[in-house]
Amino acid sequence: MTARTLVVVGVLAAATLGATRATLPRTRAERSNYTETSTYADVIGFIDSLQHAGVPFTRQVLGRTTEGRVLPLLVLSRPLVTTPAQARALHRPIVYVQANIHAGEVEGKEALLALVRDLATQQRGVLDSIVLIAVPIYNADGNERFAAQSVNRTEQNGPEQVGQRPNAQGFDLNRDYVKAEAPETRASLAAFERWDPDVFVDLHTTDGSFHGYALTYAPSLNPASLAAGAYTRDSLLPELRRRMQARDGFAVFDYGNFDSGYEERDITDTVKGGWYSYDHRPRYGTNFFGMRQRISILSEAYSHDPFERRVKSTYAFVHEILSLVAERGAQIGRIERSADSAFSRGAFDAPLPIRSRLTTAPDTLPIAFEVMARTGDSALTQPGVPRGYRRTGEFRTRAMPVYVRFEPTDSSQIPKGWILPAADTAAVALLRLHGVTVERAARAITDRVSEFVVDSVQSNPREFQKHHETRVFGSWRASSARVSPDMWLVRGNQRHSVVAMYLLDPESDDGLTTWNVFDRELTAGSAFPVRRLLTRAGDSP
Ligand SMILES: [Zn+2]
Repeated sequence: MTARTLVVVGVLAAATLGATRATLPRTRAERSNYTETSTYADVIGFIDSLQHAGVPFTRQVLGRTTEGRVLPLLVLSRPLVTTPAQARALHRPIVYVQANIHAGEVEGKEALLALVRDLATQQRGVLDSIVLIAVPIYNADGNERFAAQSVNRTEQNGPEQVGQRPNAQGFDLNRDYVKAEAPETRASLAAFERWDPDVFVDLHTTDGSFHGYALTYAPSLNPASLAAGAYTRDSLLPELRRRMQARDGFAVFDYGNFDSGYEERDITDTVKGGWYSYDHRPRYGTNFFGMRQRISILSEAYSHDPFERRVKSTYAFVHEILSLVAERGAQIGRIERSADSAFSRGAFDAPLPIRSRLTTAPDTLPIAFEVMARTGDSALTQPGVPRGYRRTGEFRTRAMPVYVRFEPTDSSQIPKGWILPAADTAAVALLRLHGVTVERAARAITDRVSEFVVDSVQSNPREFQKHHETRVFGSWRASSARVSPDMWLVRGNQRHSVVAMYLLDPESDDGLTTWNVFDRELTAGSAFPVRRLLTRAGDSP
């Protein structure tokens, strides 16, 4: 679309919106009084109606699913932009909000559609200070596999018919951010590269404990989220928590459950042992995004709240994120530019975490929980509440250890670069998809390297996401290697060197090795195929 047609759209919007506000489209959730959620056709119809009403936003295609559905990506800002270059030229934070990755968790989709409509029809507001990228129906194929929530979402309080968790290939898209096997993930990673968002928000619903929060949240939990992880955790999220309570009336807190793995006994056990978060690995989208050295926020509406309240708490949370990021745009820009500069220059020389575990030194904090009662029969008292139990509406607060941080168990220095054999084209394609720059080595040289000699290879006997995860054990030794011009070079001094490190290091707890990319090249007693360069490529050896 040219600048000229954009102006026309803007004028139309100004002239017609006042008159048409009453006729602006409503989401299926709104129209059904929160008894139903949108089908794919409803979402597309809603976006069509916004366009027909002259509402100013840019409509683009994120990608296509395996079943051929087009995934809409909407760009909102004042002035309107259509390209990443135009967005960057505004010098504002770009916030990317994704809904529906688990298609049974439906309120993100409804909240985001309503928010797009409401923000784009405001005369002034947050769109004057940020660029919003909205992906309302990321797992479109999963969305269309409607079934009773007692089948697709056993622990959710409505609506009755919802989509399924995985995509059409059976992949959990929120375990796919490293191996990137699903077209949705590949499209998402490409969009991260294209738009380079400053903030990523992923919208979900909880599954577990009966706690006292309308919504729980998490920053990237991976300790390699060096630039923005702690800032998000210690500054943005506490301020969002205050605002959600004070301005929106919702109690929110760090994501967790009353056990390290949610158990049915957690329902009535009023002696809670602790509050436990989930996982730090980058197979999860918000953890991966943190490794881009940007802000990421996981949002989990409380599954036992009624659907309408979940839509409203999610709407309020996303809106508060947009406001806060708008206010702090300059500060966020400084944090990110400083990280980009350090990694691009190869100036970051502290050890980088490549394996982590849940903290062993939790804070003790008050956590709210609901007292649940046994009913003495097997009647269903509320959708999502296990048979034999009922909610009492009585909430208590108890101080308990809060396990919401991860700590490194293994760290390693980012090397000058990595060398990959010429045949490792699958690894190269994945690295590039994740934003890592890969070049041909270009000249023959014998270079000093560090190589990882494999002692043993462990394959997880349990199948997970159609894989048996691999782990290698061994030790590093200094060596020299003949680098030929057809080999691949990944420089250590680049913007995404943290991503490169996590994907390439044999000892990383969620890298290409984990997902079987190097399986055929792993033999006990031999060197791991990816070697670390000890001199910067181009330096004299
Ligand atoms: Zn989810």
